[in-house]
Amino acid sequence: MLYPFSPQADLHVHTIASGHAYSTISEIAQEATRKGLKAVGMTDHGPGLPGGPHPYHFAALRFVPEYLHGVRVLRGIEANILGIGQLDLDEGLLDRLDLVMAGFHEECGFDNRGRDENTRAVLSMMDHPKVKVIAHPGNPNFPLDYLAVVRKGVATATALEINNSSFYISRKGSAGNCQEIIRLCAELGAPVTVGSDAHIAQGVGEFDDALRKLTEAGVKWEQVMNRTLESTLEFLGLTK
Ligand SMILES: [Zn+2]
Ligand SMILES: [Zn+2]
Repeated sequence: MLYPFSPQADLHVHTIASGHAYSTISEIAQEATRKGLKAVGMTDHGPGLPGGPHPYHFAALRFVPEYLHGVRVLRGIEANILGIGQLDLDEGLLDRLDLVMAGFHEECGFDNRGRDENTRAVLSMMDHPKVKVIAHPGNPNFPLDYLAVVRKGVATATALEINNSSFYISRKGSAGNCQEIIRLCAELGAPVTVGSDAHIAQGVGEFDDALRKLTEAGVKWEQVMNRTLESTLEFLGLTK
């Protein structure tokens, strides 16, 4: 059976600033409101991705109102992991953001270095105080020691993202890995987030595949950090 509710926050959305996505933050917030969401994570790619935003994009996020069309906009980034403890945005700029996700992408300076080295890099990012979410850890192009990563998630309260796009449109070959990660999260009680990874407004809040897999595996609703606006803000340390 599915959870009785759908998460109120979509923590993974790309705007035109990513260079290969098609909607503005205003269009995304409008669609999010229409779908009953209460928050969206504006998580454009880090500057290391070909065609990605300049660092100034992240510095200027202060111009984006906290609420747009009635939806809380979390000023964020899907930063690229470049090595041990290293992301593609300066610490000073990371500090200003509401939501820092870290993940691997090809052609950004860290292509697959094998399971052990990939895992070491991810674990190091989970010790970073600003990194709250590891983006799409089931990507088959960057093998990981899932048990080590899920254990670290429990230890550091860093969420593993269950990325809805990984099940049907992105990163082919992810589904089995995601399922294994979900199984371990259920077993160890690790925190997860659910994200659409939408690259156009119409995709915001699409979580069906991820939610089905999570419920099937017995991941508790309380483990889904973005289940409500309140739980999201608390998870991100944004409660005043
Ligand atoms: Zn990504
Ligand atoms: Zn993304």
